[in-house]
Amino acid sequence: MKKIFVLLLAGIFTANCAIARDYAKLQIKEMQHAQKYNTTQKFFSNQNAIQKNFNYLTSKPEQNIYIKDPKIFKLSDYQEVDEAKYQEKLKADDKIYSQYKKSMFKGEIFSYSAKSNGEDYYKVYRIAERIIRANKLDYINWRIGIYKDAENINAYSTGPNYIAISTSLYDSFNNNDDALALVIGHEIAHTVLGHSQRKMDIARLMMNLQNLYKAGDIHAKALFAIKSQQLLTDGKNMEYAADVEGAKLAVKAGYSLDESSDLLSFLNTDIVIPGYLSDHPVGNKRIENFYENRKYFIEDQWAQIGKYNIMNSEVMPVKLSSDRKSLTIGKTHETQSKENYYSVESMEDVYLRFAYKSYVNGEFKKSAKYFKQYFELNKTNAIAYLYASYNSEAIYKVLQRAGALENAKEYIANAYNLNKNNQYIKEQYDNINNISPLSDDNNKKETKSKKKK
Ligand SMILES: [Zn+2]
Repeated sequence: MKKIFVLLLAGIFTANCAIARDYAKLQIKEMQHAQKYNTTQKFFSNQNAIQKNFNYLTSKPEQNIYIKDPKIFKLSDYQEVDEAKYQEKLKADDKIYSQYKKSMFKGEIFSYSAKSNGEDYYKVYRIAERIIRANKLDYINWRIGIYKDAENINAYSTGPNYIAISTSLYDSFNNNDDALALVIGHEIAHTVLGHSQRKMDIARLMMNLQNLYKAGDIHAKALFAIKSQQLLTDGKNMEYAADVEGAKLAVKAGYSLDESSDLLSFLNTDIVIPGYLSDHPVGNKRIENFYENRKYFIEDQWAQIGKYNIMNSEVMPVKLSSDRKSLTIGKTHETQSKENYYSVESMEDVYLRFAYKSYVNGEFKKSAKYFKQYFELNKTNAIAYLYASYNSEAIYKVLQRAGALENAKEYIANAYNLNKNNQYIKEQYDNINNISPLSDDNNKKETKSKKKK
């Protein structure tokens, strides 16, 4: 620390002594820094990432002639919604919302530092309430705060049901509901994924280790170092996970990830929030994580599930919290059945979703790996076996793996045993059993390319 100080002084000293400084040279050097650091460029470089993402989604990989997708894959909690009935329900809900809106604009209620900002609270209420209902999280009261912070664009969550966003964040995105939804979704994701508890568990372990170390245990010191590193790494990983789960929560509530891209662009300009760099990954890494995982999203089905949940739930009442700062969104769900509540995506569903999307994205080897993991957990899903057979067929044809044909046959036989009436299963069954094995030529090719590696 001292050394740096001395160096700084020396710098000032020489600068003062210089008689004629080449300010033109200095400015040119500054402009070189500006090429890299200017925030406009950083902001818009995210647009390139979006473009890349879109190209990926719209133009299928070159192997696309091998991809068969009769669109019969459905998520396990997929529910069809009658659009007309859904619109009717929204209209009915609107009447109730307008009652709350009136009370929120009365001035003394929802006032913040004596200045009414009922409008802001109402906006946040509507976004949060929609996310909560669309994800069946309306079984508890939620508390939402907008805290005064003119400098830091930030948000946090604490406890099982409290989330807060800074006025800076709110103001930066007040004309972009989709971006606000992504933030609120991210914070709700932290709470439902139990991230505070997970961090607490590691912290408690570290405290024990510290005590052991003080008592003379040498091994405890090394373990402590490992655990503190883990706390940092896990903290970052939880951010990645909350970004992905939060996006899913927002999509279910009908928000658009494309429209929320301003938020990601902001992240990319890397505004340093105090303490932010310690356990938060840097912006561009979060964007990479977001886009990589979005490839495995099933957004249209998630949106349908969300609509179904909104149809089958009631408007959640809002009131000023007893702290006189935050708002409380009251629970409405009285059903005692566990099935009516939010649940974290099961590992079966996770593997199957990644397997299916990898296949339609043309990542056949990845898909095969995920299907294998899925079938270890579930052996009763005929449609999954059908898609696994499609995928093995693609591996056989594109990558010319002889064994893949056997896999394709085995998978479709399993599908057929489970469901003999599905036309796509029947077609694939006939098709795959009519494929002739690879010729000797191809087999030779395969061994040759293997040797090369
Ligand atoms: Zn976070």
